[in-house]
Amino acid sequence: MASEHDLGGRWDIAIVGGGSAGLPAAIFAARRGARVLLLEYADQLGGSLWVATGQMSAAGTRLQRERGIEDSAELHYEDVMRISRGTANPDIVRLAVENAAETFDWLMDEGFEPLPEHPVTGFGHEAYRLPRYYWGAEGGISVKDVLIPIVDRLVAEGKLTVALRHEVTGLTTDNLGAVTGLVARDADGDTHRISAAAVLLTCGGYAGNPEMFEQRNGYPQYNAAPYQWSRGAGLMLGESVGGYARGEENLFVNFGTLFDTDDFPARMTGRIEHFPERRKPWEIYVNSNGARFVREDVESVDAREMALLFQPKNRYWIVFDDAILNEAPPMIVGWSRDDIRAAFDRGGPAFLCADSIEALAAKAGIDASGLETSVAGFNYGVLTGNDFFGRQHAPLPIAKGPFYAIRMQASSISSAIGLAVDARLRVIRHDGSAIPNLYAAGEILGSSQTMGKAACGGMMVTPAMTFGRLLGEAMIPMGEPA
Ligand SMILES: Cc1cc2nc3c(=O)[nH]c(=O)nc-3n(C[C@H](O)[C@H](O)[C@H](O)COP(=O)(O)OP(=O)(O)OC[C@H]3O[C@@H](n4cnc5c(N)ncnc54)[C@H](O)[C@@H]3O)c2cc1C
Repeated sequence: MASEHDLGGRWDIAIVGGGSAGLPAAIFAARRGARVLLLEYADQLGGSLWVATGQMSAAGTRLQRERGIEDSAELHYEDVMRISRGTANPDIVRLAVENAAETFDWLMDEGFEPLPEHPVTGFGHEAYRLPRYYWGAEGGISVKDVLIPIVDRLVAEGKLTVALRHEVTGLTTDNLGAVTGLVARDADGDTHRISAAAVLLTCGGYAGNPEMFEQRNGYPQYNAAPYQWSRGAGLMLGESVGGYARGEENLFVNFGTLFDTDDFPARMTGRIEHFPERRKPWEIYVNSNGARFVREDVESVDAREMALLFQPKNRYWIVFDDAILNEAPPMIVGWSRDDIRAAFDRGGPAFLCADSIEALAAKAGIDASGLETSVAGFNYGVLTGNDFFGRQHAPLPIAKGPFYAIRMQASSISSAIGLAVDARLRVIRHDGSAIPNLYAAGEILGSSQTMGKAACGGMMVTPAMTFGRLLGEAMIPMGEPA
């Protein structure tokens, strides 16, 4: 037998994937006394927590009370629905926020340490109305480093079986379509048929699978940041037994990443500081028609992201001249002016420089007359104080060459589309009926459900952990069919 584990017998719960959702699910199910098998494709546990920023949001936590912050799940719910403009799934959001504080308090009991100044209201995403946003010094790693030792202890105590390097490739069903177990392939290529009373799919999203990403989202995956094993296996497993995908209406992109390459998916070259509260913009943002499409100093992250969603290829260029480069604080985090100049000298596809606006447009592939019009309009605003977009911060015109453009590409690090579940996290068919014995939690549900068509702080990691906990603790019934 190639597998070093005894995978035989009937498991109470087989959990597919040991990341943000699967780890708490395994911990709580094992503590409940269930016979639990956690199967993990990679040679390590932790999943996306290895790469994620690990920002969490929870209302009504002990830490908030200690800091005198009066908050509630209801206020968190209202804020998520406000930020998502009503597009998130109300049932799923409710289940997440009503149980988030208990998850977060538990994580802290187990040793998680948020940054000293936390909770805060926001960072990088549209801010919450109250401080309910937390993360650790090492982002997702800080969370993984709490969860994995608990799993290790349960394994040592014989309460949990973890099979690394086991890829789940199929689900088994009976004649009535109820899930009876799964099929897994180990590192030697041997196949195991595993019997389980319940199967929980916590194998993440598809953002690390460029082919599937493009096929599902309808545009390429530009970003190489997602976890490499986020390959969409769970979505396909669920669909193979009658489940279906939902959330296409909530496809969403961030406000642009700097990739100095045309070879996608790519790693970020540097982080542009486009948060006006940290650096007010001196430059203009234009689309491929050369047109400005957003007030560059608008405070709302959501407004910037939504504006970009309507631009061709979700792409824009940051345009400025030499005087702005000399006077403005450098716009790339951690880069000096010389670093930025050196990037223009190297002349990669994202760093364009020319002596005239027309030549700059030609190099960037932007419509030249559109760009000339935008620059003239912006300069009128600088002169008169009447910017056409109502922009307040515009210290210098774009007047004298050399002129510069930095190309920005919107992308997504999460999967918007996910497997449909009911409010008990049972995978459902199109007719709304639950597929017996099959559950799902985490990014497999799609960002479309917990965040809607927006980025809501912490509303991926926290719901993933919370749903894993709830399913492991009680929501997956034991000793009886679901
Ligand atoms: C760069 C980045 C930053 C992020 N920052 C944040 C943030 O700050 N806040 C936030 O809320 N969200 C954030 N997210 C999103 C968040 O990290 C994920 O949505 C969440 O961690 C997903 O948890 P999960 O349990 O569903 O999947 P994962 O944590 O990815 O776990 C899935 C596991 O399943 C395994 N697996 C996959 N296929 C199989 C298979 N066939 N058989 C067996 N195992 C399999 C994988 O190897 C993996 O270990 C970020 C994501 C990225 C990429």
